[in-house]
Amino acid sequence: MTTTYAFWLAGRQETGPETHDVHHPYDGSVVAKVSIASEAQVEEAVAAAYAVKDEFAATPAYVRAAALDHVSKRLAERSEEIAQLITAENGKPIKWARGEVGRAVSVFRWAAEEARRFNSGEGQRLDTDAGGTGRLGIVRRFNRGVVLGIAPFNFPLNLVAHKVAPAIAVGAPIILKPAPATPLSALVLGEILAETDLPAGSWSVLTVPNDRMPALVQDPRLPVISFTGSDKVGYSILDSVPRKHVTLELGGNAAAVVLGDWNSEADLEWAASRIATFANYQGGQSCISVQRVIADASVYDQLVEKVVAKVGAQVTGDPTDDAVDVGPLVSEDAAKRVESWVDEAVNAGAKLLAGGKRDGANYAPTVVAEVPDGVTLATEEVFGPVLSLQKVDGVDEAFAAANDSKFGLQAGVFTHDVQVAFRAHRELEVGGVVIGDAPSYRADQMPYGGVKDSGIGREGVAYAMADYTYERVLVLTGL
Ligand code: NAD
Repeated sequence: MTTTYAFWLAGRQETGPETHDVHHPYDGSVVAKVSIASEAQVEEAVAAAYAVKDEFAATPAYVRAAALDHVSKRLAERSEEIAQLITAENGKPIKWARGEVGRAVSVFRWAAEEARRFNSGEGQRLDTDAGGTGRLGIVRRFNRGVVLGIAPFNFPLNLVAHKVAPAIAVGAPIILKPAPATPLSALVLGEILAETDLPAGSWSVLTVPNDRMPALVQDPRLPVISFTGSDKVGYSILDSVPRKHVTLELGGNAAAVVLGDWNSEADLEWAASRIATFANYQGGQSCISVQRVIADASVYDQLVEKVVAKVGAQVTGDPTDDAVDVGPLVSEDAAKRVESWVDEAVNAGAKLLAGGKRDGANYAPTVVAEVPDGVTLATEEVFGPVLSLQKVDGVDEAFAAANDSKFGLQAGVFTHDVQVAFRAHRELEVGGVVIGDAPSYRADQMPYGGVKDSGIGREGVAYAMADYTYERVLVLTGL
């Protein structure tokens, strides 16, 4: 019998009048049904969050930290079950799903630590001018109010964790809206949150259809919107609520830059292996998957040979199998879109070096070279297992090529030269530069986010906490 998952309304489990099916991307089977919140139930959750916001903001740090530690511990205890669920709803290979749960365990642990440190305040001298004589400033942060967290399908647990944990850490209520294709692990997180002593109303995990989201986005009781997803939806939200505090974590077409000094056999083995892995690790459906390889002409041929060999050796197929490296995309439609972009590039003259085949929702790991300017693959986020290779001469050309993108999330630069590393940090138009590895490296405490069309604001536990709050100064006079 198919299980029906309830949603979480103000900390308690509820069902609504309708359900929708969650499908396994690999075989199309129905994994579970999910109950959808009615308009009245969404209203109840928002009203409860708004009503509890002052009480929650005043909760002692030790209470919030204990709740966050509890969630971290319970996620660890239930990690295998949750990893299996992520694989079933999202289709990512089980080994990557296990990694995702491990990261969510760390996110909640970090948030507990940050909650203990948060808002101790800092003093500021004001007597640097005569008018400040006898005065002292104390700067502390206060939360902006209830957070509406909107999550994408590609990391159904960890990107939810990145919204929920910092909100609890600062005492801001949160209404979390998971992606329709992948709500199950977020709803299991609800089971764990319900074991804590957090005030009723301080959190909800609601399944809401996309056509009812604009009303929620507009709701004045939700002044903070933390959105992770596509640039199209993200910027439409920002345009619709220009006066709200909106964080947008959007797409990218991340580059791995391999420079001429990265040229030993071991160097090129490492670069090729990291590039092949992180081009395809969630079927390429990560915002910092390697999409573009920009390699110096002196190492290009050797690197390409190794990348193609490694991509060809990746095990594709059933994502529940421990040996599988690359599973299906989230849906057959997604795989068809990727196929059409590769076909367009090849028809326009790109050289297909590996892959290029689709079977249902599965798209074979693909490598293309000499992609002509202007085709969709050259300009948009492919969000599939497709690498585009580009040959350049020297650092100037390499960095110019990396910056030749409307996106700017992260970049990887393979170099041994510390001067070039600092230059990359200065010149690459991205939110993060990774030296000696693929652009896809992310530690969950790092500031994470983009420039250009990749978004606004930063996640990474302490950075999201800063984002959910603002500074308010207290001026003391007569000291
Ligand atoms: P999406 O934009 O289709 O959906 C994201 C979320 O927005 C979902 O929960 C969806 O239900 C909701 N939504 C849809 N219409 C809405 C509306 N009108 N108002 C409010 N919410 C609405 O994105 P997706 O396909 O789930 O995720 C893939 C995208 O996410 C890719 O572009 C990827 O690069 C990006 N992403 C970015 C990051 C990052 O941190 N920068 C991380 C992961 C994914």
